[in-house]
Formats: sequence, C-alpha cells, structure tokens
Amino acid sequence: MGKVVHDFWHVVLESWEMTLANLQIDQDRVVEELEKLATFSDAPEPAVTRILFSPTELAARAYIRQLMRDAGLAVREDGVGNIFGRWTGAQPDLPPVSTGSHIDAIPFSGRFDGTVGVLGGVEAVRALKQVGFQPERSIELIMFTSEEPTRFGLGCLGSRALTGSLAPDQLAELQDDKGRSFVEVRNSAGYQQNLNEVAIKPGAYDAFIELHIEQGPRLEQANLPIGLVTSIAAPATMRVTLEGEGGHAGAVLMPGRRDALAAASELILAVEQAAFSTGRRDSVATVGLMQIHPGAVNSIPSHIVMEIDIRDTAQAPRDSMVAFIQAALEKIGKKRQIEASIEILNADPPSQSGADLLKVMRKACDKLHLEYMELVSRAYHDTLFMSKICPTAMIFIPCKNGYSHRPEEYASPLQIQRGVRLLAQTLADISSNYPAN
Ligand SMILES: [Zn+2]
Repeated sequence: MGKVVHDFWHVVLESWEMTLANLQIDQDRVVEELEKLATFSDAPEPAVTRILFSPTELAARAYIRQLMRDAGLAVREDGVGNIFGRWTGAQPDLPPVSTGSHIDAIPFSGRFDGTVGVLGGVEAVRALKQVGFQPERSIELIMFTSEEPTRFGLGCLGSRALTGSLAPDQLAELQDDKGRSFVEVRNSAGYQQNLNEVAIKPGAYDAFIELHIEQGPRLEQANLPIGLVTSIAAPATMRVTLEGEGGHAGAVLMPGRRDALAAASELILAVEQAAFSTGRRDSVATVGLMQIHPGAVNSIPSHIVMEIDIRDTAQAPRDSMVAFIQAALEKIGKKRQIEASIEILNADPPSQSGADLLKVMRKACDKLHLEYMELVSRAYHDTLFMSKICPTAMIFIPCKNGYSHRPEEYASPLQIQRGVRLLAQTLADISSNYPAN
C-alpha cells in the first residue's frame, strides 16, 4: 500500500472508529420487539407456533416489513416469500453484504430461534444509522421463508430457492399434509411472482452473516458471550419404507412371518452402528420418526415408514454412513423377505465459514472486548445454503441450558445486545471494505 493511500485509510479509519465507538444497541427495544413478534403465535404463551403462510405467520411478516421500513430499509419480496430490506450504500453497483435469519417456528417452540437474527439485524441497521455510519456496499437484511421443515417437509426452503439449490419444478412438487401444493399456498398468501426469478447468482452478495442462538450449552458452560461458527455440519435425511405381511398376531405362527417392524428394529440398530462405524465424534445418525401400520396390538406390522437423520461436519463420512445404512437395509430386507425402499430426501454438503470473514470478526470481538470461542454448528441454518453463493459466517449467542425448539428457550437482553453489537460492527467493517490487516 502506497503512503498516500495508507494515510488516507488511516484518517478514514480513525474517524470511523470514533463513530462506531458511540454505537448504541437498544436492547430494550429488541426485547420488546421479540415479545411483540412472539404474540403472533398459534400456541398459548410462552410457547410459539408460527407455520409458513398461516394467517398468523402472514401477520408476523407484515410486522417485519413494517420494522424494516421504519428502519429506513427499502423492502422487496421474492416468489417464495423471502423478504429483503436494503440500505443502499455509496456504491450501489457493488454486491451488498447481507445478514438475516427466519421467523417461522415449529409447533410449541420458543421465541428466540431465528427471530434474534432478524430483529437483531433491524437493530444493527438502526444503531449504525443513528451514529451516522455510511456504508460503501449496500447492506441487506433477509428474512428467509420457512427455515423449519414443518409445513412442506423440507427445511431452508427460502434459502435453498434463493441460492438455486431448489429448482422451481422441485418447489412445485412440494405438498403440505393437507395435499396443498407449495405453489397454491404461496399464491393464496399473495406471492405470485415468477418462481424462475427467485434464484440469484453466486457472487450476488459479497458476504452473509447470520446471528442466531446457539441451541446448545457450550457457550453457557464456557461462560462466553459469543461463538464464531467455523463450519456447519452436513445433514442428510432418508425415508425408508418396509413392506412385510400382516396377519393375526395369534393365528400366524413364527416361522415364515414377514414382520416389517422386526425388520425396522434391526435397521434402527444398524443406523446407530453406522454412526459408530466412522470412528468420528462428529458423526451422528438418528431414527426420529416411525409410522407403524396397522398399529394394533394383535396385528403383525405390515408396513413401516421411518425417517433417518444423518450428519457430520465432513461430507465423506456422512456419505459413508448413508452407504452403510443402504447396505444394511438390503441385507435385512433379503434375510427377512421384506420389500424395502429408500428415498434420500436431502443430502446437503457441509459449509465452511469464510476465512477472511472470520478474521474480520475475530478482530471485531477484540475491539469490542467480547470473549469468544470458535465452534461447529451441528444444526443447519440458512447460512448452509448462502455459503453456496458467497462467503458466510455465523454469530452464536448463548441460550439458557442450551434449550431450543421448546417454550423455555431464552437468551438474556445483555446476551442479545452483545450479539447485535458484534453483528453491527462486522456489517460496518465488511460493507466498507475495511482492510483485513
Ligand atoms: Zn433457527
């Protein structure tokens, strides 16, 4: 860097750091807004239920749009219902930096999952504006559609579609449990834009950062306010169908039985074995769902549907677990004369956080005197898909006892404030091409 340029940056940095030193995060305002958002719920307090495109969720969307507008953001939406609020920078032609999360909530869950990243994003923008900060790159806040798989069986609908990981014809095949198609539901929710125009190109954003509660106990146990996520585990979901032969539980003798549940039981143990087979701490495999037909005590189970969740921070061992389970199923099916089929519902790659982005965020933590640890996210987030089009990172804040997806979910105002502060600082740094060294 030449001396003149260097001096220029030096002056810019000094005045700018003085500006940012005055940054005020209004934690009471964020908490108030979190409480208000929690009232858009189909479950009694303190539980929250907010399912994609329900009347309740649509009302919550209107609230988010209003908050974005009140913060001076230009709001637009795409055909799957992702909501974008843009703060136009001095160089509007450069790809913006972005942040965001989701506001949908699984049945009887809490008020902080996802919402902290959306409302925290609004507060970060307000705080930056209040101190007179001017971004070079535009800053965009995104509220993603349906991060939770509740309604259409597939998580991260909005971020998948946005990043081209879910094509319009795949979207069109999705149905909810009432047999209504995604297209029909989003049409009646008022989203009728062309689905071919949802996906954006790699590089359309310069960076993406998601603020989120940890949903685990590590930060609380370590008594640290901040977690910087270095990678997100690769999830895969499989649906297995087993077809045996039913009959009277008393009349049909044991030889020659084709009991679908007995076969499923062997498979469940094989799933557990698959996770141990990699020899890795990061390998996990779970059977979390099983339907038994006909489901009577005096009837031999003839038909089983089960779903298997498999994850690892690296793709190869994740794939080897999938292969292990496929092989086990084939063997069990043959041995027990059970017709077995397996459908891979999703098999997503893991994501690594952007190295330069992490560098900026470590520095920001030091500047703000926020102690942090680096950790892996074992749950997936919209960031997993955003990482396909730009460098990404996540900020975790602690949550009480690591509780999440239940009404007891809690993060304190101070914990939220610190996360939002780091988010605001990072957005300021990266939106203005802050030199990383
Ligand atoms: Zn979430």
